[in-house]
Amino acid sequence: MYEAETEFARTLVAEVCALTRRVQQEVVANADSLTKGDRSPVTLADLTVQAVIGHRLAERFSTDAFLAEEDSGSLDASPAMAEKVGALVRSVIPELDGKAIATTLDRGSHPGGAEGRHWVLDPVDGTKGFLRGQQYAIALALVDRGKVVVGALGCPNLPAPGERGNGDGWIFHATRSAGAWATPVAGGGAAPATVDSISDSGQAVFCESVEAAHAAHSVQAGIARRLGITAEPYRIDSQCKYAVLARGEASIYLRLPRDENYREKVWDHAAGAIVIESAGGRVSDLDGNPLDFSKGRKLATGRGIVATNGLLHEQVLKACREELAG
Ligand code: AMP
Ligand code: MG
Repeated sequence: MYEAETEFARTLVAEVCALTRRVQQEVVANADSLTKGDRSPVTLADLTVQAVIGHRLAERFSTDAFLAEEDSGSLDASPAMAEKVGALVRSVIPELDGKAIATTLDRGSHPGGAEGRHWVLDPVDGTKGFLRGQQYAIALALVDRGKVVVGALGCPNLPAPGERGNGDGWIFHATRSAGAWATPVAGGGAAPATVDSISDSGQAVFCESVEAAHAAHSVQAGIARRLGITAEPYRIDSQCKYAVLARGEASIYLRLPRDENYREKVWDHAAGAIVIESAGGRVSDLDGNPLDFSKGRKLATGRGIVATNGLLHEQVLKACREELAG
C-alpha cells in the first residue's frame, strides 16, 4: 500500500533538496549574513519548499489535506522576500504567481487529527543548522486516520554512511512494513537502512540536538552515564538524528524537554518516526508510549522523545526514569 504516495514523496523531496542546497550555498558564501543574524535565507528556503511541495501535492493528491509549519505571513510583511520566493518557486513551477504561492502556503493550516488523510511538512527542519551551514532536513509524511503511513526525509548535507560533517545528502523513505530506504540526493539506487544491533548500552553512541535550548543536555549526559556510555554525544541538527539512527551510526536519540510545558510539533517527528520504526527501531515518549499524531498540530504524547535501535529501548527508558527521579 501507499507505493504511489511514497515514490511521489521521495521524488518531491529530492526536487526541493536541490533548491535548498542552492540557497544554503549562498548563505555560506556570504558569511556576512550569518554574523548579522539574518534569518532571511532560511525564510526563503522554508517558503519555497512549502510552496513547491504544497502545489505538487495539491495537483497529484487533490483530496488530501496539508499540514505544514509555515504560512504566507512573512510574504505580506516583506515584498522583497515575496519577490525572492516567487523567483525561486518559478524556477521549477513557472506558472505560479505571487497570489497562487500565498494560497498554496496557507493551505498548510490544516489542524490535523484522526480523520482522513493529510500530508505533514516541515519545509526546513533545523533552521539553526541551515544558517550555520550544517545539517537540516526536509520532512514530509502522510498521516492516514491519525497514523503516519509514509515518510520521506531529505537530509541535503548528510555525508556518506559512517562519515561526519557535510556531504552530498541522502533521502530516507519509508512505508509501513516495507522497510526504510536511503537514496543519495544526487540519484542512484535505494539501499536498505537498518538500525544497529547493539544490546550493550555501554557500546552505544547517543545523538541529541546541537541547540542547548531544544533539549536538556545536562540531564541527557546523566542518562548516558547511567547507561555506561563513554562516547561523546553525536550532536546534529534536525530530523537528521532519526536518519543517523536509521543507518546505525547512533543507537539512541534523546530529546528531553528543557521546559515541561513544551509540546513537540507533529512536523518535527512524523517523517523521522516512520523512518526509524521501519528501519527496525522504536520511538516513544519518556513513559514508553508511542507518539500520537492524531490529536492536532502538536503531539498528544506526554513529555520528551526517546528513539532507539529497539533493543536498548527499555533500558534507556529505565535510565531516563532514574535520572529524572534524581
Ligand atoms: P533540533 O534540530 O533538534 O535542535 O530541533 C529543531 C526543532 O526544535 C525545531 O523544528 C523546533 O520546532 C523545535 N523546537 C523549538 N523550540 C523548542 C524547545 N524549546 N524544545 C524542543 N524543541 C524545540
Ligand atoms: Mg522543525
